[in-house]
Amino acid sequence: MTYERLEYCPVCGKGEFKNFLVVADNAVSKESFVIVECENCHFKFTNPRPDAESIGAYYESEDYISHSNTKDGLINKAYHVVRSITTKQKVELINKYVPAKGNVLDYGCGTGVFLTACKKDGWEVRGVEPNEKARQIAAADTGEIIATDLQDIEGEKYDIITLWHVLEHIHTLNETIDQLIDCLQDDGTLIIAVPNADSHDAQQYKENWAAYDVPRHLYHFTQVTMKRFLKKHRMNLEEVLPMKFDAYYVSMLSEKHKQGKASMLTSVMNGYKSNSHAEKNGNDYSSLIFVAKKK
Ligand SMILES: [Zn+2]
Repeated sequence: MTYERLEYCPVCGKGEFKNFLVVADNAVSKESFVIVECENCHFKFTNPRPDAESIGAYYESEDYISHSNTKDGLINKAYHVVRSITTKQKVELINKYVPAKGNVLDYGCGTGVFLTACKKDGWEVRGVEPNEKARQIAAADTGEIIATDLQDIEGEKYDIITLWHVLEHIHTLNETIDQLIDCLQDDGTLIIAVPNADSHDAQQYKENWAAYDVPRHLYHFTQVTMKRFLKKHRMNLEEVLPMKFDAYYVSMLSEKHKQGKASMLTSVMNGYKSNSHAEKNGNDYSSLIFVAKKK
């Protein structure tokens, strides 16, 4: 296992950080990791972190990879119901930006659930997925060749590029986003969904907040730091949208971390609390979708 320590903030480039929170990897290794906060721009990131070669071991858990094992019926069932609703909402979102439909690239497409829905809806679809197992499922379900990494899509151009809960996993954060922006049409739309470290559920659960998900989540964005990150890459923020179901799902997992078991009632209450707090206080939902276009 090799760890690496970032000397400079990936968003603003300054080198002064303070320790923000120590969080355990509840899902896989049980190891603890430090989340630091940049003194200058307040970007939060896991530091030190396993390097790109070592991180694979932290994804090797039935619990983490599948979201579909039978160990935990309650969370699993909720996950699948919610997924079909949110997939539909995601397709509606890209149709809002390109009503005539075009081509969509889903970076980190997983098992291809979103792309399969897009294709059914009349979109031309392309996926990139480094995980072999997931990639094979995505290829079978979409009937498309799924790329392994960014090199495979060099020179291609897209109307929409999506990263659904993917950006926070990428070691080469700035390089990757630049390469993706290169693959975006001049009037194309970039859609990035990430957990929001300023959400009410994050503040309530603290080190038990499941969406910290260290060390797999390398970055812990907020509206302020995502706006800064997009600006740095010369992207114009069009709108910020909530992912309201995430408050419930993340509360469920967080409750499990905190209590050692799932608690439907408390999770539903805390999910609801997080959403109503966000509605009144600056849109700080558990997870947010950032929609951006080139300047
Ligand atoms: Zn910074």
